[in-house]
Amino acid sequence: MSSSHSSSSILPPATLGMLGGGQLGRFFVSAAHEMGYKVCVLDPDPHSPAGLIADEHLVAAYDDYAALDRMAGNCAAVTTEFENVPAETLDYLAKFLPVRPGARAVAICQNRIAEKTFLRDNGMPHGPFAVIRCDDDVAEANAGLFPAVLKVARFGYDGKGQARVADRAEALHAFHQFRGEPCVLEKMLSLDYEVSVVLARDEGGRVACFAAGENSHRRGILDVTIAPARASACQRDSAQAIAERIAEKLGYVGTLGVEFFVCRGELFVNEMAPRPHNSGHHTIDASSTSQYEQQVRALCGLPLGEPRMHSAAVMVNLLGELWYEGGTAQGAYREPDWAVLHAYPGLHLHLYAKHHARPGRKMGHFVVTGNDPDQVLATALAARTAIGITD
Ligand code: ADP
Ligand code: MG
Repeated sequence: MSSSHSSSSILPPATLGMLGGGQLGRFFVSAAHEMGYKVCVLDPDPHSPAGLIADEHLVAAYDDYAALDRMAGNCAAVTTEFENVPAETLDYLAKFLPVRPGARAVAICQNRIAEKTFLRDNGMPHGPFAVIRCDDDVAEANAGLFPAVLKVARFGYDGKGQARVADRAEALHAFHQFRGEPCVLEKMLSLDYEVSVVLARDEGGRVACFAAGENSHRRGILDVTIAPARASACQRDSAQAIAERIAEKLGYVGTLGVEFFVCRGELFVNEMAPRPHNSGHHTIDASSTSQYEQQVRALCGLPLGEPRMHSAAVMVNLLGELWYEGGTAQGAYREPDWAVLHAYPGLHLHLYAKHHARPGRKMGHFVVTGNDPDQVLATALAARTAIGITD
């Protein structure tokens, strides 16, 4: 973090820079607009969801230095919604204006080898793993890791770039399938369930932590988040405490998501996201401050908002297969019947205006809010089935 441009807060109508134009960026743009800021989005996709509603959309690659110069010239500060922005891009922009989170934190979170090493070196609980850079690393990996998951170190998301492997031979095969890309080999853990913590941290080190959410996945992609998680109060508290320690060790400024596995009652950090998190979408509808407003606040050096949940919430992701008759790419393409969802009380539908639906692509989500957590969950699951998510 450069001290040359720290401290005094950035106020409206300043323009904020956003690297990445996906749905997380789109919610940031909405939050920033609500607060009186303008936003300049950089994303190579001319149809990017955030670019569509930004004040300016730079349609350019993340290493296009002419575009970065324009962003630096027009913006008061820059943040990101996409963890794979090259660290060099963040370092370059940081010469001219505040970049939050900084390049170091993003570089750690965007590479599973750096991430796992960070967790180990800082004494954070994590599952057993080995770094795989060559065939010999597979041969020498501890036999106790199998059955395991082999994950490419970079650019994996939503379960992509991962292979479940029963033994060493399968691990070697998968490593070759990934063309010898550096990987981590993780012991396959038997999960009671998964939780995540989203927090915001400001430049002075103050932290506002949202309640932990409980996540279930479908085909490697987040499906449902229940917030607050039904974990014990003790587990929820320790997940928050671990996430806060991670943010501190990263020198993090902004909104951070930390995913955990719960195995036999014990917490293990799975991964970190240097941005708002899918499991924190419900904060728009159920908290006094959303994770996106917090991102704006941390970026601009404003005091963080109160993270209190005023309602119980359940979020359900809406993936691209819903746009196809029968739920597969062979079916006819048509818009899902949104009226079905709007019939449920307390349901808030959010759609990302993505150009085209593909199976597995995150197209939108809905959140059900209410006073009674059991009723909220029952309503959300009924709505999920009614719109056509049947497994
Ligand atoms: P990403 O979210 O980037 O696709 P994750 O590492 O979070 O990658 O893996 C996606 C999901 O796969 C996890 O949320 C979890 O459900 C499952 N998973 C990943 N690693 C393991 C593991 N070591 N043991 C058991 N389940 C795992
Ligand atoms: Mg994950």
